[in-house]
This record gives sequence, structure tokens and C-alpha cells, in this order.
Amino acid sequence: MYIKKQRLLTPGPTPLLPKALHAMMGSDIHHRTDDFRNIYRSVLADLKEVMGTANDVLALVASGTGAMEASVSNLFSPGDRVIVCVAGKFGERWAEIVKAFGLDAVVLQEDYGKSVSAQRVADALKANPNARGVFAQASETSTGAQHDVRAMGQAIQKTGAIFVVDAITGLGTMPLDIDGWGLDVVIGGSQKAFMIPPGMAFMSISPKAWTFGETSKLPRYYFNLKKEKKNAANGESSWTPATALLLALAEALKYVKTLGMDKLVQNAQQLAAATRSAVTALGLELFAPQSPCSAVTSVCPPKGMDSGVIVKEYRDRFGSIIANGQGSMKGQIFRIAHLGYFDFADVFALIAELEIILAANGVPVKFGTGVAAVQNAYAEVALAKETVTA
Ligand SMILES: *Cc1c(COP(=O)(O)O)cnc(C)c1O
Repeated sequence: MYIKKQRLLTPGPTPLLPKALHAMMGSDIHHRTDDFRNIYRSVLADLKEVMGTANDVLALVASGTGAMEASVSNLFSPGDRVIVCVAGKFGERWAEIVKAFGLDAVVLQEDYGKSVSAQRVADALKANPNARGVFAQASETSTGAQHDVRAMGQAIQKTGAIFVVDAITGLGTMPLDIDGWGLDVVIGGSQKAFMIPPGMAFMSISPKAWTFGETSKLPRYYFNLKKEKKNAANGESSWTPATALLLALAEALKYVKTLGMDKLVQNAQQLAAATRSAVTALGLELFAPQSPCSAVTSVCPPKGMDSGVIVKEYRDRFGSIIANGQGSMKGQIFRIAHLGYFDFADVFALIAELEIILAANGVPVKFGTGVAAVQNAYAEVALAKETVTA
């Protein structure tokens, strides 16, 4: 085979929206001009609208981890007792950040592939009435599991703690009622469901969280949320913004608003459901079957096979860039993403490719088994019931 189109199909960075990519060409603009202030203002307003919150929304020049760090350094003080839900590599990142800043972390650990239950969070809050914060991932991209942040929020809302949610792959893949569920800080990243390249993070901050900012004693400089809020009110960022990314984000948000955030979420949910049914039909096991997220589907390779073989063959045979497992999950799982600019055609291709890869590695496969499952999933959501054929 001589031509292979390279396709970026990982859970971050994700496929780019062409219009957003083209918009980046306009980045020969100065950020201290009214033209730019208007763009900055409207991007922040659109972010707030698609996130569906009345809370302040700020943008930072950083990958998602920068906003995670900013939430700690701006809202907490050394020695603060906090509860950290850890069910994967990104939960571990929360634990590492809060420890790096001298907070006193109670870690609620769960096995990779599982989720920390809201009941455990409620129990930990009872056992630690002085807890100042709870940290969790809405969707744990490293394992493909999701957390019930709604139920967690209900338990946290009644206490003096704030709920800090890494929704970097949760936004645009699951319903998140930020204000209704008491999600005090909600963090997003540009290279996930927002369809643009890496380099920007955003976060919503509730009034309750802002009160924490008044007493926080941690040192900070670059990530100063209070300063950022003050500047944002004037259409400016504290430092030089990622101009190219903001232009891209303006286009991407226009697209998401036209589509509807709920439809973007449904899109990911439908593709995730189709993928789960296809890999299951092919006899493969899901890594997080109990509460799978819709941002990414983590799949275990056939027994005795390293998932790296599948990841490599996707790339070498078809130009499809998919993700291996992270850390100790490397070789144990491969991850198929659905967040942002993905469609059914991506799933048809990825599953047809998977069937070929499995067959090439001596795994008995009846061609079409997985693809038919995707077709049936498509028919279920997009064809009238009476025209559905098996
Ligand atoms: C991608 C991701 C992050 C942020 O990683 P960065 O490399 O800093 O952008 C954090 N949490 C989750 C759940 C993610 O998927």
C-alpha cells in the first residue's frame, strides 16, 4: 500500500477542526489592540456559554496541567487537608501537585479501570470535617473510566470544601451541570474536545472557590487567577496570550455553539458506545467496563499480545495514530478516542483496521464482525427503526 494518510486519533491532541486550523493564519495580530480585545472577550463569553455556567471562566497559556496547578496554588494554603480521588495517571497527577504545594492529601485510591465512588468521597468528608477541597477527574483519560462528579458534588456542596474537577476530557463528552452540581472549579484544555492544538487551558471558578482565593497563602506568579480575572474584564490576559490558539478557539467555539454542546456530548457518547460494542463483538475486553467514559475507549489486547503491536500496526499499516496505555498500563491497553472532531467514519475505519491487525497477528477474526456492530450502532441512533437490518 503506497499512500497512507496520517490521522491523529488520540485522546489529546485530537483531530483539528479545519476552520480552526485555518484561523491560526491570522495570528499576525497584536494582543493589546481593540481587535484582539474583542476576540478575547467573545472567546471567554463563548467558553462560558458552552460550559453552561454562570461562574467566571478564565483562560491560561498552558497545557491542562497548568490550570490544575493554578487551582492549587491560588485557592489553597500549605497544610490544608484535601481529598484526592486517584484512579489513574491523571488522578496521580492531582496527588503529585497537591503534595508539591505542601497540602495534606488524603488519597482515595482505586484500581486502574475502576472509579472512586461518591460514597467514598462522602465518607472521607465525614472523617475529615476540616477538608478544604476534593480533587477528581470527570473522565480519567488514562484508563477510560469516568467519575460520578454529580453525586460527588452533592456530597461536597454541603461541606466547607470546594470541588476541583479536572474535566479536561470530560468537557464535551459528558453532561456537566457545573452550577447545579456544585463543581466549584472545572478545568478544560484546548487539545481535547475543543478541536484545536495544545497550549491553552481554561477554568471556571465559583464564588465559593473565589472566597478560598482570598485566604490562600501559597506563592504564585505566572498563574495568578485574581489578576487574570481583573484583566479579563478589560478584554486582556495578564501576559502575552497564545494568539494563534485564541483565533482557532474562536472558530471552534462558533462550531460547537452551532452544533450545540449537548450534541457534541451525544456525538462522543454514540461513538464510544459503537466502539465498545464493536470491540466486544471481536472478543476483546474493555479495560473499564463498569463506568466507561465517552472520551476514550480503553481496550485490552488479546491474551499474550502487547498493545504496542496494535498501536504500531495502526500507524504503520494505516497511518492511524492511536494511544497506547500510560505508565504501567503501557502494553496492556490501547485507547481509541472519541472526543471532539470525531465521527462515525473514523470508527468504521478504526474497527475495520483493527480486524485486519488482529488477523495479521494470528487472532481468529471473521471480517466484518466489528464493523457490523458499528453499523448497527449507527442504525440505532441515525436510521428509522423500521429500516434497521441486522
Ligand atoms: C490531557 C489531560 C490532562 C492535561 O494534560 P496536559 O498534557 O497538561 O494537557 C489532564 N487531565 C486529563 C484527564 C487529561 O486527559
